[in-house]
Amino acid sequence: MRTQRQVVDYSLQKRAVLRELLAGRVGTYDVCDASPYLKNAARFHGEPTDRRCPICRSENLTLVHYIYGDELKQSAGQARTLTELPVLAMTLREFQVFVVEVCLGCDWNHLVEQYLLGRDGLAGDNEGTGEQDVAAEGAGRRRREAQR
Ligand SMILES: [Zn+2]
Repeated sequence: MRTQRQVVDYSLQKRAVLRELLAGRVGTYDVCDASPYLKNAARFHGEPTDRRCPICRSENLTLVHYIYGDELKQSAGQARTLTELPVLAMTLREFQVFVVEVCLGCDWNHLVEQYLLGRDGLAGDNEGTGEQDVAAEGAGRRRREAQR
């Protein structure tokens, strides 16, 4: 997706959890704890993959995309299908996406990655793309302007 930015990859954390599991330091009940909400989101909005569950190895993983952001209003925190994201990215300035992998067989679940989407990403580094940026960004811009 063209406007995807600030990607945070959680595969290292996931591998660490799997290592802990293999070593017997955590039990499957600790990591296979998908809530009914998460499993419903996986069923109705999930993106099927051809990757096997690392725990039970009998089901394929499903990816769930959760969206967060002030502009989403009451939709914040909801799951969206992958095909809905580009549409949102064209209509909203900025929102956060959290991708969670879920196994509907054994309830394994883990955060895969997070990133930002939205029209702000299209502007690149151009200045003057709006005034209501996130606090840090806004402060940076004000500082730059103050230096002029
Ligand atoms: Zn599984």
